[in-house]
Amino acid sequence: MSGFRRFFYNRLAVIGLGLLIAIAAVSLLAPILPIAHPNITDLTMRIMPPGTEGHVLGTDQLGRDILSRLIWGTRISLAVGLSATAIAAIIGSLIGIVSAFYGGVIDNTLMRGIDMLMAFPYILLALAIVAVLGPGLFNALIAISIVNIPFFARNVRGATVSLVRLEYIDAARLSGKNNVKIVFGELLPNVMPVIVITISTTVGWMILETAGLSFLGLGAQPPTADLGSMLGDGRGVILTAPHVATLPGLVILVLVIGINLVGDGLRDVLDPYLRAGALVSPRPATEVDAKLLARKRAEKLETDGDASHISDLPLSVRNLRTWFWQRDAQIHAADDVSFDLPKGRALGIMGESGSGKSVTALSVLGLVPTPPGRIMDGCVTYYGEELVGAPLERLRFYRGNRIAYIFQNPMTSLNPLFSVGEQIAEAVRRHQPVTSEEAWARAGELMDMVQIPDARRRINDYPHQLSGGMRQRIGIAIALANDPDVIIADEPTTALDVTIQAQILRLLENLRERYGVSLVFISHDFGVVSAVCERIVVMYAGEIVESGSVEEIYGRPLHPYTRRLMACVPRVGSRGAEMDAIPGLPPALDRLPAGCRFAERCDMAIEACTSAPIPLEEHANESPVGAREVRCIRAKEMTV
Ligand code: ADP
Ligand code: MG
Repeated sequence: MSGFRRFFYNRLAVIGLGLLIAIAAVSLLAPILPIAHPNITDLTMRIMPPGTEGHVLGTDQLGRDILSRLIWGTRISLAVGLSATAIAAIIGSLIGIVSAFYGGVIDNTLMRGIDMLMAFPYILLALAIVAVLGPGLFNALIAISIVNIPFFARNVRGATVSLVRLEYIDAARLSGKNNVKIVFGELLPNVMPVIVITISTTVGWMILETAGLSFLGLGAQPPTADLGSMLGDGRGVILTAPHVATLPGLVILVLVIGINLVGDGLRDVLDPYLRAGALVSPRPATEVDAKLLARKRAEKLETDGDASHISDLPLSVRNLRTWFWQRDAQIHAADDVSFDLPKGRALGIMGESGSGKSVTALSVLGLVPTPPGRIMDGCVTYYGEELVGAPLERLRFYRGNRIAYIFQNPMTSLNPLFSVGEQIAEAVRRHQPVTSEEAWARAGELMDMVQIPDARRRINDYPHQLSGGMRQRIGIAIALANDPDVIIADEPTTALDVTIQAQILRLLENLRERYGVSLVFISHDFGVVSAVCERIVVMYAGEIVESGSVEEIYGRPLHPYTRRLMACVPRVGSRGAEMDAIPGLPPALDRLPAGCRFAERCDMAIEACTSAPIPLEEHANESPVGAREVRCIRAKEMTV
């Protein structure tokens, strides 16, 4: 959705924009409106109530027309507020960018100056500046601009600092651009959203501050009126003629509300974090569709938990459907996914990135973020106990305890502020009634278990002091902390290089054999999956397209996608041999085709492939590790 449309989707922002346009239009048209001159006094018509003939909103103490003064006053307040904003934005942003870009002495000098401005309450500082410069609108404008410079300088500096060290700035330097070109050509456009957001949040304040100074008699001087000075004038007669002060107060209120609503709308459009829903705090567990939940409760009463066929499986997933509900799309991230994990076994989930592997894995313990995620259908059972729709305390009990996760990126899955020992001990303490000493001792043992050399010493290290491979070992230690029955490893080696990857795989393999843990191992790499697992399910666009033992899938892939996927694995020593890329891209998960999801990229597709959904069908096999299934109507032809 374009930013423009997103803004207009926000009803409050549109209301705010309407208010602003109306106010701005009226005050811009002031010279040609059929209203009296704002400064004409008429002492015979003092303090008339609203509705008086010729004075719709009444008159003030000098018999001046309040409507006319409001319109002209708004014009002045707007002009001063906006000019002050522009000045503060330009100077403040420049200071921010320059400090962040040059750093060192320049940064220190500029920022300490800004700190000095921020050390005083800003309205007091504005008063002091006007006191020095003398009262008057122009001086008030200068004072308001100065006190608002720090907001821009700090926000913009913060945003720029994170950009300056990025490679594209180096690239700009390499291309021969000088500093001025880099600041204005590369940095400024990137911090523009921050500047606009800061403007939108401060402009209302600046109008209020201008009004405040005028109210105190330091801004607009008589007979010129702005909203603040009108408010000040009306103060004397607030009891006898409240409309004189109330009306300018109301205009200020409406004006500032309008500006803030528009500002919020703009911020939502411009701030990528907010756009991605950063302010929406996710629920503690993935939402389960209401209909599904009702059905589950009803079934439970009927069957009284008859699940004998799955009750000896540490993990069983049946017809799992997890979708993301977005404003204008429904993303079918996992559709009808089923698999069983027998005790002590390792199951691989393989598929291109985006095929729904992580969503499937996270659905098991309700860790898919809601919004936008929602489990639409299916069962997930741990030794027969249903986890979909289970109460939060049950899920919390299982999380990291009976079922543990290892995540892809050990760089970001550890907390940088705690030592690795504390993080492992915390995982132990979360689920076991142990003292801190015991937890600490257990952390040391776990670090030995995952073969961290010199564990006693490294236990106090922080994540940044460890290499990627070491950190992933810590991730594994945390997963093992409570002797889980199931470990779900979501691409645990993808972020590591090949030699370290091999070590980690061997470690997982050893741990599995020694402790009898069951493993769900997710990877896009057939080589890695086959090194760890006995059984594989292949996912494509949210669906399982094939499953079977590693040997069978390796020796005789039945689904055209699996074959193409395996052809992508390079073979050692086959330099120059063509590596087969799969042409085309997976379908968009919110606009899935009616038939086979792979048909568009498949070289074997026939008409029947695209007309109706293709079922996952069982195929004959002699393997001891479960069924062989494939979702392809031409699979039979492949077997010969
Ligand atoms: P992978 O197989 O690489 O682990 P994922 O399971 O992470 O893939 O994602 C599957 C699909 O779900 C992706 O196409 C992605 O676009 C979508 N998806 C994942 N998380 C979200 C989210 N929070 N909001 C919307 N869509 C999401
Ligand atoms: Mg993933």
